[in-house]
Amino acid sequence: MDKNLRIVIVGAGMGGLATALALAKKGFTQIEVYETASNLGFVGAGIQLAPNMARILDRLGVWADIDREAVVVSETSIRQGDEDKELARVDLGYVKKQYGYPHMVGHRASLAGSLYEGCKNEPNIKFYFSTSVEDVESFLPKPSIIMKPRNGEPYTVKADILLGADGIKSNTRTAMLKEINAPDAKVLDTDQAAYRIMLRREEMAHDPELLQLIDRDVVTRWIGEKRHIIAYPVSNKTIYNISTAQPDKNFAAGPSATYTTKGSKSAMLGTFGDFCPMIKRMLDLVPDGDVCEWKLRVHSPLPTWVHGSFALVGDACHPTLPHLAQGAAQAIEDAAVLGVVLDKCPDSGPESINKSLRVYQELRKDRAETLVELAAANGRDLHLGAGSAKEERDKKFAALKDKQGAVPDKWADADVQKMIYGHDCMKEAEEQYQGLFAKL
Ligand SMILES: Cc1cc2nc3c(=O)[nH]c(=O)nc-3n(C[C@H](O)[C@H](O)[C@H](O)COP(=O)(O)OP(=O)(O)OC[C@H]3O[C@@H](n4cnc5c(N)ncnc54)[C@H](O)[C@@H]3O)c2cc1C
Repeated sequence: MDKNLRIVIVGAGMGGLATALALAKKGFTQIEVYETASNLGFVGAGIQLAPNMARILDRLGVWADIDREAVVVSETSIRQGDEDKELARVDLGYVKKQYGYPHMVGHRASLAGSLYEGCKNEPNIKFYFSTSVEDVESFLPKPSIIMKPRNGEPYTVKADILLGADGIKSNTRTAMLKEINAPDAKVLDTDQAAYRIMLRREEMAHDPELLQLIDRDVVTRWIGEKRHIIAYPVSNKTIYNISTAQPDKNFAAGPSATYTTKGSKSAMLGTFGDFCPMIKRMLDLVPDGDVCEWKLRVHSPLPTWVHGSFALVGDACHPTLPHLAQGAAQAIEDAAVLGVVLDKCPDSGPESINKSLRVYQELRKDRAETLVELAAANGRDLHLGAGSAKEERDKKFAALKDKQGAVPDKWADADVQKMIYGHDCMKEAEEQYQGLFAKL
């Protein structure tokens, strides 16, 4: 494989950054990242840093900085939102011993910032900010892409390999599906939206109960009918990160292009109006005008992620509900596997590149789509209203006191964790590349 091929990556989110870094680490010398935004304006929110993500970031040399300010989670507490009554407490301390990395939580800026710093240390990665991919003019024999600088005229870039890491509203995905005469990705309305909140320690300091929350190494999930709140401390416990899920009322009637909106504080307080007083005090600390609500959308599985020398990465091909905390982790797994398969590609011909990208798809598509479905199923279980299904679920929570059965909150279940954290996608790609390539 000629490592001087021109590789164009669309999007500098978690998937695009990790892909650029993974390829640079494999010795590719012409990696270009095009990003619509003028810089990496990071969303102010926390993120769970699961061991399958940490393992890859460590191999890419960017874990140490993230690790320094992330918080190690020792337990998760799942509680009824209305009474703050604990349904189950699950030990996560075993995770490090079992999977080599603890379960951690951190700030998105720390994750994206470390990936970006890692990329900047690689002279073979070039960033083009304020530049959007407008369209893909042609995919075959080589991708030809129309770039539009924010204040300039469009121009065409020809690439040897094109990787679309342009997120849930991916232009490159739309272009590929059009090219192969497949219908555009079917947006599945999840009927869910999320508030994302970060409270500073000082804002909570006057309230001993709230202070206790930020001081504990615990991920807390408060659940109720059709709603939940998940919260944990980040940034060396200087910030308490709160993320919610609730019925989508504000976007439902809105245009499908809208994904975030300034929310109303009173609507947010009303949504969790029957949750316990402590939670209401916590939500009331959010300054007026600082309430941001996110529409949670997903797509049905795509017919393919690959066409010619083009492949999709991350949310562009497997957007997910956040209830398993694996969206960015899966984008980073995509990136790591792309690094392995392109490194192993036997020559630089479009046919071999296409086959290598299809090996990537073989290794990744089922796994990512399984986790998307599992995240949706977790939401359904957590959001049950009164009735027999909820009673069954709560019996399962109760059985955990005697260390029996599966944890109904799937991300905290040891078997689910084994499937997610125990999977070393790079090792699997190394081991299976030849066999899969030969079969295509
Ligand atoms: C409430 C919530 C909580 C979450 N919690 C977690 C968690 O705890 N753990 C976890 O692993 N994941 C979590 N996720 C999921 C995670 O945030 C996403 O899956 C992840 O950020 C996807 O990364 P990406 O790079 O694929 O896409 P994005 O981050 O969307 O990046 C796409 C990039 O492409 C750029 N772009 C778009 N179009 C173009 C274009 N035409 N030309 C050039 N650039 C373009 C965009 O500006 C953007 O920078 C959560 C998500 C939500 C909504």
